[in-house]
Amino acid sequence: MAFESLADRLQNTFQKIRGKGKVNEADVKEMMRDVRMALLEADVNFKVVKDFVKKVSERAVGQEVLKSLSPGQQVIKVVQEELTELMGGEQSKIAVSNRPPTVIMMVGLQGAGKTTTTGKLANLLRKKYNRKPLLVAADIYRPAAIKQLETLGKQLNFPVFSLGDQVSPVEIARQAIAKAKEDHHDYVLIDTAGRLHVDETLMNELKDIQQLANPNEIFLVVDAMTGQDAVNVAQSFNEQLGLTGVVLTKLDGDTRGGAALSIRAVTQTPIKFVGMGEKMDALETFHPERMASRILGMGDVLTLIEKAQANVDTEKAKELEQKMRTMSFTFDDFLDQLGQVRSMGPLDDLLKMLPGANKMKGLNNVTVDEKQIGRVEAIIRSMTKLEKEQPETMNGSRKKRIAKGSGTSIQEVNRLIKQFDDMKKMMKQMTNMQKGKKKGGFKF
Ligand code: GDP
Repeated sequence: MAFESLADRLQNTFQKIRGKGKVNEADVKEMMRDVRMALLEADVNFKVVKDFVKKVSERAVGQEVLKSLSPGQQVIKVVQEELTELMGGEQSKIAVSNRPPTVIMMVGLQGAGKTTTTGKLANLLRKKYNRKPLLVAADIYRPAAIKQLETLGKQLNFPVFSLGDQVSPVEIARQAIAKAKEDHHDYVLIDTAGRLHVDETLMNELKDIQQLANPNEIFLVVDAMTGQDAVNVAQSFNEQLGLTGVVLTKLDGDTRGGAALSIRAVTQTPIKFVGMGEKMDALETFHPERMASRILGMGDVLTLIEKAQANVDTEKAKELEQKMRTMSFTFDDFLDQLGQVRSMGPLDDLLKMLPGANKMKGLNNVTVDEKQIGRVEAIIRSMTKLEKEQPETMNGSRKKRIAKGSGTSIQEVNRLIKQFDDMKKMMKQMTNMQKGKKKGGFKF
């Protein structure tokens, strides 16, 4: 998970101070020493760490904190606010040109995830903002780059503009923008060429495209796991091109977080999106405040809610509620519900967004067994309509058939039926409690 080791360190530090009724300057000093070490170990830029520690210390020993009723909590609040500020404060928005198409240039070194991110961004623009982007293959040097973008386009059902590898990138960009106007695309995403290192030829080519395309955004795609190297790359690109935003990829595998915490402070360029996996829907808008909360173990309930809103069908949810109330909830509904929760992403990742998840003993090591859920689904799919609606009809021979059909065992089938039964009993109790409440009070 992103920031895991940094989060662990900071949370351990704050554990000591959290519940304290009295905090003095020496306590703050000791805590800040730990924070400083934790940030340096996370590969945060040295100067950034120094400034951060200074700011937090000044505020933390201030009157309003040490004399407050819960000084421990107040200090943590100060750290949370300053972490948010460090990562850019407000969430920054993506540009919209009032003379479409809006042009976005994707730049970065080879292997950072530029082509993948171009596909992900197109996907996000369509899903979240209902936009109609045109993808442009302007990386004519890496042999497989054009093909890779075309494959992504096909997979996601986006048109990809390409003129092969014999036409200059500037000409490709020119014709692509004309084509986008003709076909009424509102966004043009140009996948430019990468190099292994920052070099002059690359920069000159990018500047030429920039001059011609006059982009509304220039996004640098960098690999979070490269830490301070990513920060240096961002600095060079920013000096040469004037970036409007950074997309930090592979944050899913970055346990330290050094790049995420330094880039904005060093380059003054905000992180706009983060890549959280290889799949095409694994691009998240970057929210500094939520990220700070995640690092400090306060969870990220807002992102969780957004995921639910984006993936859960509200009509179905209402229908389900009605079924629960009238006790007509069947195995088919159960299957449906499982499917909706799974569409929100890997369950382990969802669990980790809950407040305090890092500190829940054991939860860190829990990996939700997706295979187990698959078995439950297989069992339900092997039931007949009657069995799904009236589980009590399932006798020994029916259970044997279901176990065989789903490649599981009778014990597993029995366990699922029992769980389903318990769930229904619980629903009944809850419904009765609600009824009781309406009549005037609970009955115990
Ligand atoms: P490019 O050379 O910059 O265009 O890089 P690619 O788009 O070809 O990506 C290089 C590799 O990084 C591919 O294997 C991608 O699947 C992977 N990748 C890109 N973004 C992410 C991410 O956010 N998380 C993970 N885990 N892998 C990513």
